[in-house]
Amino acid sequence: MQGATSIDVVVVGGGASGLSAMKQFQGGKRKVNSVVLLEAQDYLGGRVKTVRTSIEATGKTVLTEDGAEWVHGGRTTDLYRLAKKLNGLAPDTKTWSNIEHECRQRGLCLSDMPSLMNLRMNSSLLLINSVKSADIPPRPTVPSIIYAGGLHLKESKPLPKDLEDWVKGAGEEGFIFFSLGSAVVPSSMPEEYRKILVKTFGSLKQRVLWKWDKDTMDDLPPNVRLGT
Ligand SMILES: Cc1cc2nc3c(=O)[nH]c(=O)nc-3n(C[C@H](O)[C@H](O)[C@H](O)COP(=O)(O)OP(=O)(O)OC[C@H]3O[C@@H](n4cnc5c(N)ncnc54)[C@H](O)[C@@H]3O)c2cc1C
Repeated sequence: MQGATSIDVVVVGGGASGLSAMKQFQGGKRKVNSVVLLEAQDYLGGRVKTVRTSIEATGKTVLTEDGAEWVHGGRTTDLYRLAKKLNGLAPDTKTWSNIEHECRQRGLCLSDMPSLMNLRMNSSLLLINSVKSADIPPRPTVPSIIYAGGLHLKESKPLPKDLEDWVKGAGEEGFIFFSLGSAVVPSSMPEEYRKILVKTFGSLKQRVLWKWDKDTMDDLPPNVRLGT
């Protein structure tokens, strides 16, 4: 701190708490003459960390959250306003209020169900449909949180005959099942990504069963089969 003659306040840590303290000291009611922020890392935000990754194949940049991702308290909070100003939040940014709105609109929440916020504050037992060792990063939990990964699974049924024959026909190389899960409509992916997948699957020795929402695809390689 070369050149500083006197410092009234030192704030340690440039996470949400430190930045909020800085705001109080600099422009808020607790104005002081000199305040310094010390941050050990080379970025501000602490456990709120947006990572920008360039995808070589498309030349585009993808944003992912390494830490906090939910804005609690809805769109009227200072945090929401700040995040919107800095990051230009997407319209579907998750807040408790817009998740609840969507849940009710889609008929997924019972009409007499208490608000999600109340449920969250007042739950005696939480069953999580996930495996603890798959948590990234692993988090400590209290005894009322029980990991019950696979809770929804039902006993499997045999494959339809033609699919069974196709799988067996894959021989020694085996086959790959590729699915983006049930929440995503596969054909809504950008064409450039679809083409990358077509090219990659077509170059494999294995057969590929691709979960897709349409019956046909013009440039489907011979080793790839679509399934809905
Ligand atoms: C994976 C993950 C997901 C989360 N998801 C959510 C979410 O969705 N919504 C939500 O509201 N919250 C979430 N949280 C919690 C939220 O991120 C934290 O509560 C919040 O960021 C804490 O802010 P903070 O400023 O108190 O601490 P931190 O963000 O930890 O900031 C502390 C800062 O102090 C610095 N520091 C520490 N020691 C020193 C030192 N001696 N000298 C200089 N600098 C120092 C650190 O480098 C760090 O930058 C999540 C947290 C994690 C890890």
